[in-house]
Amino acid sequence: MTRDPRYDVLFEPIEIGPVTAPNRFYQVPHCNGMGRVNPTAMAHMRGMKAEGGWGIVATEQCDIHHTADIAPYTETRLWDDGDKPYLARMAEAVKAHGSLAAIELVHNGIAAGNLYSREVPIGPMHRPIKGTYTPVQARAMDLSDIRDYRRWHRNTAIRARDAGFDIIVVYAGHDGTMPTFFLSKRHNQRSDEYGGSLENRLRLFRELIEETKDAVGGTMGVVVRFAVDEMMGEDGMEWANEGRDAVEMLAELPDMWDVNVSDWANDSMTSRFAEEGYQEEFISFVKQVTTKPVATVGRYTSPDAMVSAIRRGVVDIIGAARPSIADPFLPKKIEEGRIEDIRECIGCNICAAWNNMGAPLRCTQNPTQGEEWRKGWHPEKIATKGSDASVLVVGAGPAGLEAARALGQRGYHVTLAEAGDALGGRVTLESALPGLSAWARVRDYRLGQIREMANVEVFMASKMTAELVRELGADHVVIATGSKWRPDGMGRANLFPVPGADGTRVLTPDDIMAGRRPDGPSGSPVIVYDDDHYYMGSVIAELLRGAGHEVTLATPGLCVAEWTQYTLEQEKIERRMIDLGIEILARHRLSKVGDGTVDMVDTLTRTTVTRSATVISVTGRLPCDELFYALAADNDFQSVKRIGDCYGPATIAHAVYEGHRYARELDTVVDPDVVPFHRERYDLDSV
Ligand code: ADP
Ligand code: SF4
Repeated sequence: MTRDPRYDVLFEPIEIGPVTAPNRFYQVPHCNGMGRVNPTAMAHMRGMKAEGGWGIVATEQCDIHHTADIAPYTETRLWDDGDKPYLARMAEAVKAHGSLAAIELVHNGIAAGNLYSREVPIGPMHRPIKGTYTPVQARAMDLSDIRDYRRWHRNTAIRARDAGFDIIVVYAGHDGTMPTFFLSKRHNQRSDEYGGSLENRLRLFRELIEETKDAVGGTMGVVVRFAVDEMMGEDGMEWANEGRDAVEMLAELPDMWDVNVSDWANDSMTSRFAEEGYQEEFISFVKQVTTKPVATVGRYTSPDAMVSAIRRGVVDIIGAARPSIADPFLPKKIEEGRIEDIRECIGCNICAAWNNMGAPLRCTQNPTQGEEWRKGWHPEKIATKGSDASVLVVGAGPAGLEAARALGQRGYHVTLAEAGDALGGRVTLESALPGLSAWARVRDYRLGQIREMANVEVFMASKMTAELVRELGADHVVIATGSKWRPDGMGRANLFPVPGADGTRVLTPDDIMAGRRPDGPSGSPVIVYDDDHYYMGSVIAELLRGAGHEVTLATPGLCVAEWTQYTLEQEKIERRMIDLGIEILARHRLSKVGDGTVDMVDTLTRTTVTRSATVISVTGRLPCDELFYALAADNDFQSVKRIGDCYGPATIAHAVYEGHRYARELDTVVDPDVVPFHRERYDLDSV
């Protein structure tokens, strides 16, 4: 297949100072939880993006000095020459495919707590460090500190050039880097030439760009990454005033502008809170004030939206982090006219969450993400089948769909049987909840692929029993029958069933998704009890509030949807609850359910609150594994396995991964006593 000429503009080379990007696809710097701790895995992951056609592939942030230590996070470091080899390996992996390797140099200033290096943090002013409540202060940099800092930045740029990189990204964004702190009136109230007027606050950023160009500009492109709006109105930088002024003042200085909004939670908004291309309204002025190439992000997955952004003069280059994680081969698929094969990011931020927990990134859509080296998984290639065996997959949720798709790709004869009248399992049900419609892409991508496979047969309205499975006579059976939310209130806070809590008095998310609603008139009170702490409690609260109920969201957590701090959504979710008029009751544990009454205990004071309301219990799930146990001991099959929520209820990302893993491992020998992936080892002899 060939590329649609409408997309030709995406494949035009573009000059970035002295270097030329082969096309308009730029994998912007993004955290990945591997970095310096899993550097081989990181290098392979970046190399895969280049293989998939991203013309520029950047590192995550790379810390320039030991006063810029953001432990416990795993980002890259280039503190001295000893850090060069693993970064050189990454640059090499990218350049092997003809792409440009970019490195983003960073000093996090007052946001670097220096927990590992034990240096005193530095910044524009004396301030407690930012981002955590760690009882440490940053000290105000004097002029000699600023000179030191500029030298560190310059020297690191030279080291990066020597490590093989083509582009330096000078980074002022996300309310988290030194030039940002100097630019911001909130963080910088100095009275010297680095404080006061915008020109003074911009001085450091200008110096960094000039000095980087001076040091390496002859051979490397110098890109600035700059947040033009902080989305906090007059309390921060706004694109319509200082954001624009700053770009105008530096307009022709960098070789390329990579512009976005701040902070990270605004830049990487989930699909629950922002649509594709949502940053355009903030950044579209930039191309009017500079002749240099301009890039932005905005979760672009549609080539039409990308071309439109270029044609309308908003950008020259399409930046992407999450779309490149969900589909490292997105550019290649556009180039080869395979648009329907694109695995579109769903905007869930599971990738960010794992990084934020200090673990290698995972992706809901792309189960191979982070496994490129560790397991040798390629996102597009998979071994052909190991035998002529047939496989029955029971259940067409994310686990079953991915197992069937990947088994089909391997060439197995697959039968996928689904009890319901729709495919997609929990993804289909959950994508109908407020704000989650993009999640249906998990189903749509897989169904689109399966429909093209003659060796995969799909049957709906086919509830499988043990007899039916035996009758069908497949060689291998994999059970992906999912899980059910439990009504008994057991979860993290309640380790025994809550008295009175059962399916007659308590509704669960499954009931709500099946269309059941609380008894009583419209407007009757409901309590959504959330001991799950992810999205489900808040989306059900939103749904019921939209249906006119008086809604209380009660949780034993410290705040609403506490875990979503990792997906960068917590504040946005809590704010939405408040805006919708939903009452929030934090630190409360469900203790008893009566006929129309609900008791909750304050987890600190142990006082009990009694309310007249219907309770929706969102606490935990139980696997639907009856069919598995009915077949597990059967000798009629070569294997009977279970995957996804039927094995261990977790996220959709887990279910997709389990389905994929099953398909990869079929007809291979898996020794449960052997670690099933490569690990990075320390070379003790080198210390
Ligand atoms: P997962 O996240 O593990 O993929 P889901 O709950 O999303 O799990 O999907 C499980 C799917 O399995 C649902 O669509 C459900 O209708 C289907 N299912 C459950 N039991 C059977 C059965 N006995 N036969 C066929 N399909 C079943
Ligand atoms: Fe997109 Fe979610 Fe994958 Fe991140 S984890 S790339 S947000 S689909």
